[in-house]
Amino acid sequence: MDARTRYDEVNALLALGASKGVYLSTHDGLDPHLHFAPDSEYLLVRVRAVTAGGLAIFLTESRGTRLGVCSRRGCEQVFVDVGRNATRRYCSTRCGNDDAVDRYRQRC
Ligand SMILES: [Zn+2]
Ligand SMILES: [Zn+2]
Repeated sequence: MDARTRYDEVNALLALGASKGVYLSTHDGLDPHLHFAPDSEYLLVRVRAVTAGGLAIFLTESRGTRLGVCSRRGCEQVFVDVGRNATRRYCSTRCGNDDAVDRYRQRC
C-alpha cells in the first residue's frame, strides 16, 4: 500500500469515526488529551473514533511512515515500525524467516 492510499484510508476512517467532534479533555488526573467523540456516544462509536484519530496522529507524528503491511504473501498483518531506520518489511520474525525459506525454495 503506498502512502497516498494509506492517507486516503485513514481519512475515510476519520470521516466515519471522528466526525462527531474532537475536543481536549482532562479527567482523572490525566494531562490534556484529545477525545474524538463525545462520552455520551456508544462504546463502538468511541472506539472507532479513537482508532481513526490515533492512526491520524501517528501518521502525522511519524511523517507518514512507520506503518506497514507484512510483505509475506498471504499475511496481511499490519505493524508499527519502531526500528531506527524504518526498514521493517514483515510483521514478525517468523514471517521474515518463512518468506526467506520460500524464496530459497523457489530458487531450487
Ligand atoms: Zn480521556
Ligand atoms: Zn506476516
